[in-house]
Amino acid sequence: MRTTDTTPQGPRLALPEGLAAIATRPGDDGYERVRHTYTRHGSPGAVLSVRTPQDIVAALTHARDMRAPLTVRSGGHGISGRSTNHGGIVVDLSRLNAVEVLDARSGLVRVEAGARWGDVAASLAPHGLALSSGDTGDVGVGGLATAGGIGLLARLHGLTIDHMRAAELVLADGSRVRTDADHDPDLFWAVRGAGANFGVATAFEFHAEPLGDVVAAITVFDAGDPAAFLIRWGAAVEAAPRTVTSFLTLVGGRGSEPVAQAMTVHAGTDTEAVREALAPVLSAGPVLRNHAFATPYHRLLPATHAVQQAQQPLAVSRSGLLEHITEPAARAIAALLGAGRAPMVQLRSVGGAVNDTPSTAMAYAHRTQNFSLMAATLPALRENLDRQWERLHPHLKGLYLSFETGTGRRRLRDAFPGAVLDRLMILKSRYDPDHVFDSNFALPSEG
Ligand SMILES: Cc1cc2nc3c(=O)[nH]c(=O)nc-3n(C[C@H](O)[C@H](O)[C@H](O)COP(=O)(O)OP(=O)(O)OC[C@H]3O[C@@H](n4cnc5c(N)ncnc54)[C@H](O)[C@@H]3O)c2cc1C
Repeated sequence: MRTTDTTPQGPRLALPEGLAAIATRPGDDGYERVRHTYTRHGSPGAVLSVRTPQDIVAALTHARDMRAPLTVRSGGHGISGRSTNHGGIVVDLSRLNAVEVLDARSGLVRVEAGARWGDVAASLAPHGLALSSGDTGDVGVGGLATAGGIGLLARLHGLTIDHMRAAELVLADGSRVRTDADHDPDLFWAVRGAGANFGVATAFEFHAEPLGDVVAAITVFDAGDPAAFLIRWGAAVEAAPRTVTSFLTLVGGRGSEPVAQAMTVHAGTDTEAVREALAPVLSAGPVLRNHAFATPYHRLLPATHAVQQAQQPLAVSRSGLLEHITEPAARAIAALLGAGRAPMVQLRSVGGAVNDTPSTAMAYAHRTQNFSLMAATLPALRENLDRQWERLHPHLKGLYLSFETGTGRRRLRDAFPGAVLDRLMILKSRYDPDHVFDSNFALPSEG
């Protein structure tokens, strides 16, 4: 790797003229605004603000020639934090952020990978369209749409990737492809769940769904007996109509009782239907506070574009999927909470329409589960979390990579069960034989 000089912020990478023009390097104005991500500090040698797929090809070529670490960033909200690095190249897609409605009647839209989901939602709203993505508007399209996308309408509309109709990528050899069900179908299968291993996605086409206003209920429950509460909440969510999706956050208190806050969304505003759909979920536990309101969907996930400064201190997280919240699982989840273990546990309902897609349809193969679980903690408390997580592991069925920070073969097997990992390894050998795209949950090659 060749550097030009070293600054107090780190060494600057040497770059050819074309790339220097789009680079922010240590010592440059604005470097502090682009060096970190949501969960991690970084000191890359160059952040390349790519404007075209050709810029990406040039960046890949240069990274290979220089043997520089290469990472890809869209919204910088990767929980694993691996969209920055130390001393290497970051390909930053945030300027490739167009959102285009190709056909309002059928809902076909094209979204560039550097857009934020909040901006996507706001752009689709005037057309009466929506794409379920996640619960946070600042999350980038590229990271989420290459992994899954468990959103606030998941039980009604399925995962974000279930709506993908095509993906445009720059591959490891610098070629540009548009893949869909009829063109490079193996690649299209792999992109939907393991996309980060196969190239730099520049844009996607999705089928968005028609959507009117929704009702959101933000409910604070007394979760003094967290296991009992979780069992009741889980059963209520599973029994709810598909119009209902509920995300739950439990925060363990220092010496105080855990508190649970749910964000429950019902698609529709008919008063009677809302009451009927939400009442069972709201009766999962003693309600300390509840605020329900009708709103356009996009207002639930505004994009703030705040500068990333590793502002999330809970930078270690474990991820798992559950079919049901059984008593032993609930007890093991409850044990995660408490001082010195996991300060935060989140459950997101999947199920419903997510499970309508066959498990063989794409690399994300988890189609029987009803809940996605994440537990996050401070790096200093990682071992405590891991000890508790081992007790929970037998009750889990699979893993969603977007909420995991750990690495290793067991996690890949959990994320890509059975024959899925084997097929991905074969495809990795075909599309990325030199392991250019290995910075985040690297797949081994075949053999
Ligand atoms: C506050 C918060 C809330 C979240 N809520 C949800 C939720 O409700 N549902 C859900 O499903 N997920 C959720 N997530 C997880 C989120 O989907 C993932 O972390 C996702 O990877 C973030 O995407 P990004 O583009 O912002 O990330 P980045 O940090 O930019 O990228 C993350 C990784 O994705 C890969 N990548 C990024 N862009 C591309 C690209 N263009 N081509 C190929 N690979 C790429 C790279 O490996 C990179 O390291 C949440 C994350 C946060 C921080």
